Amino acid sequence: MIKTRFAPSPTGVLHVGGARTALFCWLYTKKMHGKFVLRIEDTDLERSTPESVQAILDGMAWLGLDYDEGPFYQTQRFERYHDIIDQLIAQGDAYYCECSKQRLDTLRERQMAAKQKPRYDGCCRDLGLRPDSAKPMVVRFRNPQAGVVSFNDHVKGPIAVNNAELDDLIIKRSDGSPTYNLSVVVDDMDMDITHVLRGDDHVNNTPRQINILRALKVPIPEYAHVPMILGDDGKRLSKRHGAVGVMEYFDAGYLPQALLNYLVRLGWSHGDQELFTLPEMIDNFSLDALNRSPSSFNTEKLNWVNQQYLMSLPLTDVVTLVRQRLDRLEIDYDQNRDLATVVDLYRQRVATVNELVDSIGYCFQEFENYDEKAASKVLQASALEPLRRAQALLAALESWDAVSIHGVIETITEELEVGMGKVGQPLRVAVTGGSFSPPIDQTIELLGKQRSIARIQRAIDHISTNSAS
Ligand code: GLU
Repeated sequence: MIKTRFAPSPTGVLHVGGARTALFCWLYTKKMHGKFVLRIEDTDLERSTPESVQAILDGMAWLGLDYDEGPFYQTQRFERYHDIIDQLIAQGDAYYCECSKQRLDTLRERQMAAKQKPRYDGCCRDLGLRPDSAKPMVVRFRNPQAGVVSFNDHVKGPIAVNNAELDDLIIKRSDGSPTYNLSVVVDDMDMDITHVLRGDDHVNNTPRQINILRALKVPIPEYAHVPMILGDDGKRLSKRHGAVGVMEYFDAGYLPQALLNYLVRLGWSHGDQELFTLPEMIDNFSLDALNRSPSSFNTEKLNWVNQQYLMSLPLTDVVTLVRQRLDRLEIDYDQNRDLATVVDLYRQRVATVNELVDSIGYCFQEFENYDEKAASKVLQASALEPLRRAQALLAALESWDAVSIHGVIETITEELEVGMGKVGQPLRVAVTGGSFSPPIDQTIELLGKQRSIARIQRAIDHISTNSAS
């Protein structure tokens, strides 16, 4: 059975790059009917925080990336790492090193000056040192000096590194803590990980990890190192480019399904298909179809995907999201009100749930100000007459529906011998505060008689005050 793991370090929020890696692990697991492990790599005590752990768990939960095992915390496994370090020492695959920082700094400077790759020179490798509480010591892995480490990366293809290029890496620091490469190897081994999918910033660690796994005489997992995500300027995606945290996308009104769909395409393709249901993603996913080159994050494309989901999700799901958002914003709306009609009218015109809520806000509460541009263009003296007539005719309407309202607007255009826009636009700005809404007859129907008439009055007053001043 295959087993993958997502192993974030809790030193910040779950960012989109991490979420994409987690998604690839999750998809591969589902496709292969395997298991997916969540492992929190919190050994960096200074930079790891409980808030980050929570942010990772929240992000995974919001995206629906459920795991079969974990979360495991590396800080709870120190004893196990120490046992393995002792085992490696006992079998001669690791040794104590007492080289001082000063010696290592000098060595490094000398190598740099000679244009050599800085690396440990193996000074303590054969000294057979024993731990000495009086001296700070580290433990190093005895990397083989000859031969080649090779593996077939699912994304990058065959990779081979000469052992001569690898030095004896530290696996236990002088403060006693295990290093990243050691704890990852022990965990991947203990958790029976068969496939390691991770960012390609770790590809240089892989030959070292393989050597340690070999020393421990356990199977070597398969590897897939996925290229990083870039910003629109071709640089590595970071805070500078805008939102990078998954939950920022929740706050901004994106749908988890849409973000997943966007992320899967950012680094994986299946023909020209852009939109995938989760079962489709699972069915078609394959490690070998992961892109080799980095992809750039494109908010416009994400908006497009989100819009497709907003339009195609069951209406009741979108209504639920709108209600949640209205509640979060503490917008006081009639709980019994049928939101479905207004949500349905607007969902094709917006990219996010937030935009949806912003656009329909005028249905539930008074807008504070008119959109400046719209008001200065449309709420002019020439709009007074159409607005007055509309107010009177609407007040007299017996049946409040879009068709009758449309009739009113038509009557006015005929009476005043003007085009639709001369009546429709002032009405739109009057009742919504801006110039963006679905057909005006439907908008007015939605808003209801009392509100519409009061708002037309407000616009008439606005124009009168402005032209008097
Ligand atoms: N903890 C590492 C990181 O967040 C990932 C290590 C791994 O996947 O092997 O970059």
